[in-house]
Amino acid sequence: MIVRSPRILILEDSRSDYELARRELIQGGLGQEIEWAKDRGSFLEALERTEPDIALLDHSLPGFDGISAMRLLRERLPDVPAIIVSGAIGEERAIETMRAGATDYVLKDNIERLVSVTRRALHEADQLRARKEVEKELQESRKRYELLFSSSNEGISMHELLHDDDGVPVDYRTINLNPAYERMIDLPREDVVGINASALFGRPLHLDWYRKVMETGESVSFEDTEIRPGKVLLISAFPFEPMRFATLAVDITYRKELETQLEERARELARSNSELQQFAYVASHDLQEPLRMVTGYLALLQKRCNDQLDDQAREYVRFAEEGAARARNLVRDLLEYSRVGSRHKPLTEANMEHLCDLACTNLREQIMEESAVIDRGPLPILLVDEVQMVALLQNLINNAIKFHGSSPPRVNIRCREESDEWVFCVRDNGIGIGPQHQERIFEIFQRLHGVGEYPGSGIGLAICKKIVERHGGCLWVESCIGEGSAFFFTLPKCGRT
Ligand code: ADP
Repeated sequence: MIVRSPRILILEDSRSDYELARRELIQGGLGQEIEWAKDRGSFLEALERTEPDIALLDHSLPGFDGISAMRLLRERLPDVPAIIVSGAIGEERAIETMRAGATDYVLKDNIERLVSVTRRALHEADQLRARKEVEKELQESRKRYELLFSSSNEGISMHELLHDDDGVPVDYRTINLNPAYERMIDLPREDVVGINASALFGRPLHLDWYRKVMETGESVSFEDTEIRPGKVLLISAFPFEPMRFATLAVDITYRKELETQLEERARELARSNSELQQFAYVASHDLQEPLRMVTGYLALLQKRCNDQLDDQAREYVRFAEEGAARARNLVRDLLEYSRVGSRHKPLTEANMEHLCDLACTNLREQIMEESAVIDRGPLPILLVDEVQMVALLQNLINNAIKFHGSSPPRVNIRCREESDEWVFCVRDNGIGIGPQHQERIFEIFQRLHGVGEYPGSGIGLAICKKIVERHGGCLWVESCIGEGSAFFFTLPKCGRT
């Protein structure tokens, strides 16, 4: 639609006739943009310069009449309306001008009609333009749709629901399908279009789903293994016209195979994990007995045969005793490690302050021996495995005391709340851990020092990690050599504060 004032081009050789027409147009409110062409040359030049919204053509120009002017106009601007303005015009002539494409004509004697005729022609041209635009848009969207339909990797098909005499849906027929769907079902479209599903598949596959789609007007999705044996298709069906529905099919065979493989692997992993756990448990449990025998006989040797042993033999017995004691500790810790996964209690609500105090009570000898100071802040009440929580805190506090530096150990235990978890911190002023070791110390048997320097089996932190992970949290350390260490662990929020 033209919102600005219309551009009017008048072809007229007579100045007085031009003025007459111009005056009419001005009086009728159409006089803002009028251009005057006196002859063929100026008419062509005007057309080149700007596109008029309408042309008023004098019919009786010498050597260049209205009809020729109109043909020229139509060649260049087929949609611009043209009105013939003329002196008396015969019926035949009038028909001829209309045939040549004139929108209307106005007799000079009747020039007062000019405004209304111009306005109507402008209005009709506007409508024509709008209609053409809509048609163009429609065509483009149809093209886009066709492109999508034919180049989509998803199978698209359209179907018509078929009813029996009582109006009950009993079958459906395919009315269209795209190339991707042809490939998916491995059938050419001529074998599918117009064919009833019962004829195609032996029965109307998934009719209940499609009936539901048509009844509720809502889309549904389901997996299919029957349309193309050996393939799994994910079908989404939705209504698109009365009695018609469309389906979108995606071949998910590969995805399904991967899922099955993944599930199998997870099962295998769980099985081998539990076997490993079982093995660690049995091995460490069964090792206790021969170890007890070794230490028992070593003690007997010392008690009964001490007089017969020379100094060197006594030293050998002492070494053997120390080795046996270390092996006993190792086996005990290994047993504990294997139990974290297999023998755990259900989670119960527990006050973490009490559990931390209990861990400190268990460590009181060590605390006194090293003159350690334990500073515990407020801790929340949480759903935990109490025994494991005490073991976790005890291990961390034990290490914090054990790996002290030159000054007496100070251990701070704090907890802060984050959006969906609690973050605990056990901080010490000990020897610290270099950045290169901060990951591996959580692995089983990883120690940074010899047993002579600091006693231990290298299993404590691996147990801590297992406990924290079993509770849905994670464990890490922040530390610098000589500046103490801070062990953090998180526990998801459950229970009250
Ligand atoms: P263990 O204490 O029996 O050696 P852990 O698994 O508890 O075994 O610890 C593994 C190693 O991590 C320790 O040997 C030690 O080198 C280092 N470590 C653990 N806690 C601390 C700490 N608080 N300060 C310094 N080093 C530590």
